Amino acid sequence: MAASHLLGPAEIRELAAELDVTPTKKLGQNFLHDPNTVRMIVGAAELSPDDVVVEVGPGLGSLTLGLVDTVSRVIALEIDPRLAGRLPATVAARAPEFAERLTVVNTDALKVSRTDLDAEPTALVANLPYNVSVPVLLHLLAEFPTIKRVLVMVQKEVADRLAAEPGSKIYGVPSVKAAFYGEVSRAGTIGKHVFWPAPNIESGLVRIDVDDTNPRELRGKVFPLVDAAFAQRRKTLRSTLAGQFGSAADAEAALRAAGIDPGLRGEKLTVDDFVRLGRGA
Ligand code: SAM
Repeated sequence: MAASHLLGPAEIRELAAELDVTPTKKLGQNFLHDPNTVRMIVGAAELSPDDVVVEVGPGLGSLTLGLVDTVSRVIALEIDPRLAGRLPATVAARAPEFAERLTVVNTDALKVSRTDLDAEPTALVANLPYNVSVPVLLHLLAEFPTIKRVLVMVQKEVADRLAAEPGSKIYGVPSVKAAFYGEVSRAGTIGKHVFWPAPNIESGLVRIDVDDTNPRELRGKVFPLVDAAFAQRRKTLRSTLAGQFGSAADAEAALRAAGIDPGLRGEKLTVDDFVRLGRGA
């Protein structure tokens, strides 16, 4: 990847001034101004030239410019109309030979659906808006089954939660739901100073290699069980799942049928356990 077209601190400030953009916390606007970090993220995604990438929150285009010369299409979903409106011109000016690969959709990524896109994405690569990072990630995984690779930057603490293993204190709803889709791993930690403005905390990269181990149609049965199992972390499954199965006795029977000790807490269950339970629900 050639570096010259990527955005550094001066270009980021210039673009923001031109657009009169003051980054807002509400929209999680922290813009990358470090080409090395952009290269690192794109490298960690291990994309192929045929990939169609959906990018959430392209902002001023830092990561977008690192993607357009690597894959065949980039579909960028941006909620802020000023940023969405400016992005095609930024890419046309800095990477004209790849400008045709970019489509910008001015939309809320939490609400985007298959019919809003004119191609089926194969990968999700994004520096996600931090306040909605997990809901956006789970929405896109659910809505676009063609996505096979995910590489997202989120708050470090959220990255740790997403990749947490059963039994750990931070293992919870996001860990199980992400694992439903495939193998989740941490792909590095990013310091604060590669962003403008610098956030208060470090960021982490999460990679998901999506697979078809768990049939998608089971999601509607499995996810409510996961939500219920973690709603009261200190209670046993027999009691947290009573509402899902009708009574504590029925929950106990279902747990036993799935080979799970009803006296355990949700935090001990793997995604495979939840899926077995969901098949019987
Ligand atoms: N990708 C850019 C970068 O790395 O410099 C910007 C990342 S910034 C952390 C998050 C971006 O997401 C902002 O551009 C913000 O306007 C946008 N955003 C916030 N909420 C969004 C939503 N619900 N849907 C789409 N974009 C959103």
